[in-house]
Amino acid sequence: MSARLANWSHSYKFGAARVHVPESEEQVQAIVSQSDRVKAAGTRHSFNEIADTSGDLISTERLNRVLSLNASEGTVTVQAGIRYGELCQFLEAEGLALHNLASLPHISVAGAVATATHGSGVLNGSLSSSVVGIRSVSADGHISSLNLGDDSLVFGGSVVALGALGVVIELTLKVEPSFAVTQNVFENLPFDTLDTHFDEIMSGGYSVSLFIHWDQPEVNQVWVKARADQPKPSSDPSDFGAIRATRKHSPVPDGDIENCTDQLGIPGPWFDRLPHFRMGFTPSSGEELQTEYFVDRKDAWEALSAVNTIRDQIYPIIHTTEVRCISADSYWMSPCYERPSVAIHFTWKKDPIRVLGILPKLEELLSPFSARPHWGKLFSMPSDTIQARYPKYDEFRRLVQSMDPTGKFRNPYLDRLLR
Ligand SMILES: Cc1cc2nc3c(=O)[nH]c(=O)nc-3n(C[C@H](O)[C@H](O)[C@H](O)COP(=O)(O)OP(=O)(O)OC[C@H]3O[C@@H](n4cnc5c(N)ncnc54)[C@H](O)[C@@H]3O)c2cc1C
Repeated sequence: MSARLANWSHSYKFGAARVHVPESEEQVQAIVSQSDRVKAAGTRHSFNEIADTSGDLISTERLNRVLSLNASEGTVTVQAGIRYGELCQFLEAEGLALHNLASLPHISVAGAVATATHGSGVLNGSLSSSVVGIRSVSADGHISSLNLGDDSLVFGGSVVALGALGVVIELTLKVEPSFAVTQNVFENLPFDTLDTHFDEIMSGGYSVSLFIHWDQPEVNQVWVKARADQPKPSSDPSDFGAIRATRKHSPVPDGDIENCTDQLGIPGPWFDRLPHFRMGFTPSSGEELQTEYFVDRKDAWEALSAVNTIRDQIYPIIHTTEVRCISADSYWMSPCYERPSVAIHFTWKKDPIRVLGILPKLEELLSPFSARPHWGKLFSMPSDTIQARYPKYDEFRRLVQSMDPTGKFRNPYLDRLLR
């Protein structure tokens, strides 16, 4: 494979000297043992250098099998590189489901878990919150296993680990019985409604997303995904001034609706409604950069109002902003660590100079809310600012030092973050 790999959006070119595509854990062990600098990459959907290395890059694309299903425990064990789209097909055939999915099913399970990738839902944790077991190749080439409950302290530091602790080769995830979901889109919710009704609107479905294009003071679209096996929510966005859509929408203005999962209340399986984009089709815009900040859910209105003050600067360079809720978790490096969160996401046009120019302004506006950036997207916050917002930062730094004393899994991104 060519060593000049790019990320999904072709906004970042990898600098790895060598790229390996192992097919077995023994091959991963051999690469890790022999390398001074090594890193795993999943489907390369991150927007920064988080997955890069100057040495040996291990692509997990051929480590993509379902290994076992434990029906009595309600768990599935998979290889690290399997994409959610492939895992979902397997689970559905077994009558099973994951609790939630990101906006797209194209990403690898280990890559998503490493960065606390999330969907939406006030009661839904990130995708990392499904993890109950991890098998990894450690810096010395040996295999280590960690299960929830064995040593909960280290588990807290080892799930959302930014690729810093080793190469994950297997993950065991919690599953539940398959469920059906309906998806409805509502248009033109007045922005100010979020002041008093944010929690009601975001709780009005199993997974709710707001899309804001910043062209006018309104939420352009509200996507409500409701589980068929749960009671109907007592309100919907039309109770707050939005209009129920009567045709299918893309969350991206001018986006192709063919790429999007079905809407208009047509029931469908969980894996074909929870993501906005369908497997096998281009997700989102393609020509884009992304940024996302997490704040405490109680600060949602103030944080969104702060962003709204530079709406005229955002509008020319944005495809769309998505606002989602994620429940608190206990992973040391999760942006949702011990904080029920609202994530304010920006799908930017592919204009790196203007995008990198606006990030410090956004970060300053969101600073009073101790915003934490998404690890896999673009941000400009200095490391000491980030460190102050993670109560377990020092513990994570010590864990990395003990697991990887020679810095085999380090790269400039982690060097900056962990210094
Ligand atoms: C169109 C689009 C939509 C997106 N939607 C969402 C969304 O809805 N929600 C959200 O939160 N994010 C979203 N993201 C961001 C994305 O989910 C994250 O960047 C995620 O980490 C990508 O997974 P990946 O498999 O591509 O990982 P990569 O980008 O390849 O790697 C990410 C990190 O994981 C590590 N890693 C990967 N595999 C392993 C392994 N086997 N062992 C150890 N470390 C490993 C890498 O070293 C790196 O640190 C989106 C991105 C795109 C492009």
